[in-house]
Order: sequence, then structure tokens, then C-alpha cells
Amino acid sequence: MSKDLRGTLIGLLGAENVKEHVSMSSVTTFRAGGPADFLCTPVSEEQIRALAAFLQEAHIPYLVIGNGSNLLVRDGGIRGVVLQLGSRFSAVTAQEPEDGRDGAFLTAQAGAKLSAVGHEAQMRALSGFEFACGIPGSVGGAVRMNAGAYGAEIKDILCCARVLMPDGQVKTCSPQDLQLSYRHSALDENGGMVLSATFRLRCGDPEQIRARMAELAEKRRSRQPLEFPSAGSTFKRPKGYFAGKLIMDAGLKGLSVGGAQVSEKHAGFVINRGGATAADIEALIGEVQNRVFALTGVKLEPEVKIVGERE
Ligand SMILES: Cc1cc2nc3c(=O)[nH]c(=O)nc-3n(C[C@H](O)[C@H](O)[C@H](O)COP(=O)(O)OP(=O)(O)OC[C@H]3O[C@@H](n4cnc5c(N)ncnc54)[C@H](O)[C@@H]3O)c2cc1C
Repeated sequence: MSKDLRGTLIGLLGAENVKEHVSMSSVTTFRAGGPADFLCTPVSEEQIRALAAFLQEAHIPYLVIGNGSNLLVRDGGIRGVVLQLGSRFSAVTAQEPEDGRDGAFLTAQAGAKLSAVGHEAQMRALSGFEFACGIPGSVGGAVRMNAGAYGAEIKDILCCARVLMPDGQVKTCSPQDLQLSYRHSALDENGGMVLSATFRLRCGDPEQIRARMAELAEKRRSRQPLEFPSAGSTFKRPKGYFAGKLIMDAGLKGLSVGGAQVSEKHAGFVINRGGATAADIEALIGEVQNRVFALTGVKLEPEVKIVGERE
């Protein structure tokens, strides 16, 4: 089965774009997790569509990933196919608005990094993307998560996204279609895959845009444990609270399970201090949830997507 599948995947994508038994620690920012049976990196929309159609038809499970910066893959890994939309699916183009209004649209393929889109916006003197350029994700992952920071979120600038639905149709979805809300989109439920997204940005001063990006990058460096692997904020913000503050007030900074630790620098981050297994990280997440709940009655919900098989 695995040999047949390998042959079919190579036939669809070329041998250089199909790898077998790939450790998910190499494609996720937590640097933990077991192997994927296959890691496929399609280079064009045609390849993505052909691959998805084949996998659907053959009932082979698949997981689409971007930069792996919001994922915890369990140690048993992922059966089936991981479809990574990465650097080879990352073009960014600009279009003038037809209504004559100020600004422009930027359209980015799903694998484009948010930092690259931010850079393109700055080069073109377009403002509105500054909040997102320090988030270490891809455009596809950011739309799926409705990523946000410093008072803004993808929802505020998204004009539309082209989405490959499980039935093989490509739909142009508005933000309303995508039902973007706090770290959630309808893609969580409908299984759609973002192929590209178009953002509406306004004219700005390139120097001011650059300065704002630098200011936010400095904020991240000084407050977040960027020197350790993590998936960013581990928990969603519970209504009326801040997850990091609840965890800090519960005295959990520095709490460890194996190589996983609640960051001493920012209690909202679980970090991999070195050699953490996904089981360590998941156990620590559970421990933090239990202790915070026992003390405050607040249920912390992971923002990080936990996927894959237990060992
Ligand atoms: C140091 C650090 C700081 C962070 N700061 C922030 C922050 O300020 N704000 C914030 O919101 N997040 C933050 N994050 C989390 C993360 O970067 C974002 O959630 C980001 O949007 C995830 O993008 P990704 O490409 O890495 O997605 P992945 O981690 O690869 O995937 C995340 C989810 O999206 C799905 N997905 C990926 N690509 C697609 C696609 N093309 N179509 C459909 N679904 C897809 C995956 O299946 C998965 O369910 C941070 C993470 C780190 C490590």
C-alpha cells in the first residue's frame, strides 16, 4: 500500500516533492512530534488540486500545513499525507483598486510567509499589514487561524480568499463566508484549503510603516521567549482574562514536564527547552489547564492545534 501510494504521489508531484517518514519536528516550530507517512510539497495550484482530488477519492487522510507555527504533532506522528504549502507556493502580487480609492490589494499564495507579505507591503508603501509581519506563519495558516496581534487581526484586512473545498471546487470566499472570529474560521469545520488570500491595504509612508514593524518586532523580542522553540501563545485568551496572567498568578512560571516548560519570560508560552517530546508538551498543557481551573474556575483552551497519533 505504502509503495503504491508512494508511486502515485511521485507520479503527481515528482520525486523531489515527495518524502517518506519525515519527522514533524523538522516542519513545526515546537521542534517535537513523530513522523508523517508522507510529506508532500506541491509547487503549483494544479498539483495541489490533483493531489487533493486523489487523496479524497482514495480516502487517504491528509493534513495541510503552512509554517507549522501553531501545531503540536503527537509522537506517533501522522498517518497519511502532510501537504505542506511552503516557499515554492509563495508569490505575492499587487493590484490597484478599480474603485479609484487609495491603497491597493496584495494577493499572496497560501505558502507565503507573513513576514514576506509585510515586506512587500512596506516596499509598496502600503499600510495595514504591520501587525501581522512578526507572526511566524504562512498566509494559509493565518487565514485559517484568523491570526492577530497588537489589536488587529486578519479579518480586518482580508478582502477574500480562494479556497479549495473538499469536493474539489475552488470558491472565492469573503470574510463573512469564512466566519472569521477569534482564532477561528469556518475552515476548521468545512475542511477547505486556502490557496491564496487578497488583502486590502491603504497608502502609507514607507518609513512610518518600517518603523512600526521594527517597534512591534522589538516588543516581541523583549516579551516573548523567541530563543526557544514554541508555537506562540499556547492558550486562547479566555473572555475577561489574559491566559499568561492567570498562569503566572497561579505560580506556574517555570513548571516543567520533561523538556517542556512554562516560559519564565512569558507564562502564556509553553516552550521546548530541549528534547521535549510532544507527550511532555501535551502533559504540561493539561497540568496548566487543571491547576488554573482549580484555582480560578477558568477553563483554558489551547490555541495550538494538537494533531496526530499518540505513541
Ligand atoms: C514565536 C511565535 C509567535 C506567535 N505569535 C502569534 C501572534 O502574535 N498571533 C497569532 O495569531 N499567532 C501567533 N503565533 C501562532 C502562529 O504563528 C499563527 O497561528 C499562524 O497563523 C499559523 O500559521 P502557519 O502557517 O504556521 O500554520 P500551521 O501551524 O502550519 O497550521 C495551523 C492550522 O492551520 C491549518 N492550515 C495551514 N495552512 C492552511 C491552508 N493553506 N489552508 C487551510 N488550513 C491551513 C493547519 O491545518 C492547522 O490547523 C505565534 C507562533 C510562534 C511560534
